[in-house]
Amino acid sequence: MKQNVFTKQVAIIATLCLILLAGCSSTAESQTSEEEVQPILVQGPMPIEAENFADKLSDVEEETSGTFVFYKGKLDGYPVIVAKTGKGMENTAAATAVAIELYNPAAIINQGTSGGHDPNLNVFDIVLGEKTTNIGSLKTGDRADGEGIKPTNWIPMDLMASEGSAGEDPDAEKARFFEGDEDLLAAAKAVKDVHTEGKVVEGTIGSADVWNNEVDRIQWFHENYGTSVEEMEGAAGAQIAKAYDVPFLGIRILSNNKTNGGQYNPETASANQEYVFEVVKEYIDSYVEK
Ligand code: SAH
Repeated sequence: MKQNVFTKQVAIIATLCLILLAGCSSTAESQTSEEEVQPILVQGPMPIEAENFADKLSDVEEETSGTFVFYKGKLDGYPVIVAKTGKGMENTAAATAVAIELYNPAAIINQGTSGGHDPNLNVFDIVLGEKTTNIGSLKTGDRADGEGIKPTNWIPMDLMASEGSAGEDPDAEKARFFEGDEDLLAAAKAVKDVHTEGKVVEGTIGSADVWNNEVDRIQWFHENYGTSVEEMEGAAGAQIAKAYDVPFLGIRILSNNKTNGGQYNPETASANQEYVFEVVKEYIDSYVEK
């Protein structure tokens, strides 16, 4: 009986040691490979904005963290991770930070659909985010009880201006524009011709957890922020990428445009992924150290 217990204990200890050893070696392996080759991260909010791209990768392994899904695969033998972030600023910010911590990406492309702010842009046109800005971070005017609401008097609020009160700091009374990475932009410009369903232009992407359908309000953003399109994710990804100093670019196709009657078309989501796939290929070929 005693011997039996002893044998069991030895077996348990031996098993624990094996588990520990296996754990150590796999951590060491993944750290080494991450140091060697940093993947490109491509973000899409909704299934229709991420899964097409993931299907185009080879050797795909799926990992999840919370509600975020990461499709880790290869494009021409180079590691590329597609992240299905979910919609909106919070999901995107968190998914970006998690991906940076887990996978140490060389660059991030945030892509998907958007609504036009520029009447010269049509459904299926694509905007490369030379700049991305948060159009939901606003300070209202001072109005007493009964003085009403005046959204056109609201001013942009730069949450990154200082560590002090954004509501009191006059330096914070401006919009912050996150610059698109030069090399990612160059790669995107180099393959403009592959997108045949519309044009590809450089512009400004505005983001907020808001869907604006008021044309006067859309025009107000277009005039005051210079926005080409609006969506709900780009500026959140850009802000976190900047916090970690990771190159970033937003690439958005118009799925709708209230300013010129452009009706919502969900087919645009896959067209954008086709284009971004070529951008990533070009970036890997010409700009990534291998
Ligand atoms: N029409 C779809 C919309 C999905 S929610 C539906 O009702 O199911 C919005 C998503 O589409 C976000 O990920 C956002 O980035 C993008 N989007 C497309 N056009 C937009 C617009 N005009 N304003 C805000 N977000 C828009």
